[in-house]
Amino acid sequence: MKITSVQNYLRDIQSGEIEYSQFALEAIDKAKRLNSKYNFFQDISQAFATQHEDPLYGLPVSVKDNICVKGMQSSAGSLILKGYVPPFDATAVSRVIRAGGEVIGKTNQDEFGFGTFSTNCAFGTPKNPHDPERSCGGSSGGAAGFTAAADFPHIAIAESTGGSISCPASFCGVVGLTPTYGLVSRYGLIDYANSLDKIGPIAKSVWDAAFMLSIIAGHDHRDSTSLPGEGIDYTKKLSEDIKGMKIGIPKEYFQNINRDVERAVWSAIEKIESLGAQYKKVTLPSTQFALPAYYIIATAEASTNLAKFCGMRYGLHGQIKGGFNEYFSNVRSEGFGKEAKRRIMLGTFARMSGYRDRYYMKAMKVRTLVINDFKKAFKKFDVLAAPTMPILPPKFSEIEELSAMENYQMDVLTVPPNLAGIPMISVPCGFSGKLPIGLHLMADHLQEQKLLNVAYAFERSM
Ligand code: GLN
Repeated sequence: MKITSVQNYLRDIQSGEIEYSQFALEAIDKAKRLNSKYNFFQDISQAFATQHEDPLYGLPVSVKDNICVKGMQSSAGSLILKGYVPPFDATAVSRVIRAGGEVIGKTNQDEFGFGTFSTNCAFGTPKNPHDPERSCGGSSGGAAGFTAAADFPHIAIAESTGGSISCPASFCGVVGLTPTYGLVSRYGLIDYANSLDKIGPIAKSVWDAAFMLSIIAGHDHRDSTSLPGEGIDYTKKLSEDIKGMKIGIPKEYFQNINRDVERAVWSAIEKIESLGAQYKKVTLPSTQFALPAYYIIATAEASTNLAKFCGMRYGLHGQIKGGFNEYFSNVRSEGFGKEAKRRIMLGTFARMSGYRDRYYMKAMKVRTLVINDFKKAFKKFDVLAAPTMPILPPKFSEIEELSAMENYQMDVLTVPPNLAGIPMISVPCGFSGKLPIGLHLMADHLQEQKLLNVAYAFERSM
């Protein structure tokens, strides 16, 4: 199997150059081998079908564990959902299957998306293929790690609440596209925080990410926040011509950044300028309040979402003894990890009567300020550019030393665009030694095409 790009795969499978059953066997076998070394998956498919529709022609697609796949355990990285096998596919998954894709497996993630390093996983912590002593990033660590390590055509379906697509894409040196909130249906997603969750692709190239977005985007009556977007082919209008594009550089996003990251991102910005775009600095003054606001909103929503996991309906069940409360607390104590418990407590506290105005309502106001900052910037700029992450992929031994607060601070650059629901893409822009660095591009709501074009032009110039 020599082909790695999805574009070449599509060409070769149509011309009959690839023998599908052989390809499928090899892909599954390779996924298994990579998994035993790096822990990318919670479950891997046993076999693929033989008949496939275009446009995907049997392309292997991995699915983050929190996105339901019929007949495969879908546990959102949590022990409390162990044994939960959904009887239906999430809309994004059914679109992939309808387009002829094959689910290759369920990728490991932080429990319910709670994390930045994929170290809060009930089914194994994925290791970074660039250095197995380091994190893949999170929470979609398995998705990004596998995308980087697989030497055959594949695209991952991942999800972001506050940066879970961009962060692991950056740490693993692949492309991560978080679409506008609502562009991809959330039906069948095991929610973290409903007002923030977005499903999107992680892929080896910008073209691949654009291609997968075209397949999964579109209105779905089963998701009340779903936007129109059916039938847009983002690859058709993919263009390297970015002459005259205006790029904003938010100055708050360059504070306390690792020196190598800063250097690589600035040289990427200069590269983009040399392709005919112009850049200018801009200020987004609410940035400093975004992180605390995010952690209040996200945990408040998470604490209500997790209430349904109590050993009655989904996943883990226990021995019924004592009253309901006793049974629920036994199952929940056993099934939830430490970080999930912390967030349930934090979120419950933030929305308790008496505290709601002081925390939750205030956080909602900050969210509006963050959105306004972006809206103002997008009156002047087509795209904003910044580092994706302030640090290089850390070692597991370094992560262990971090306090919860230090952990949350790592999301400082990815949280604001996620709060605003705007689209963003992380594209590889260089290395520090063997460790990849990501450039983060952000655009106004539904301006995915602009975003993809800048990313594509940059990728081509590398
Ligand atoms: N690291 C952030 C958090 O823990 C974002 C994770 C995500 O996007 N799911 O909330």
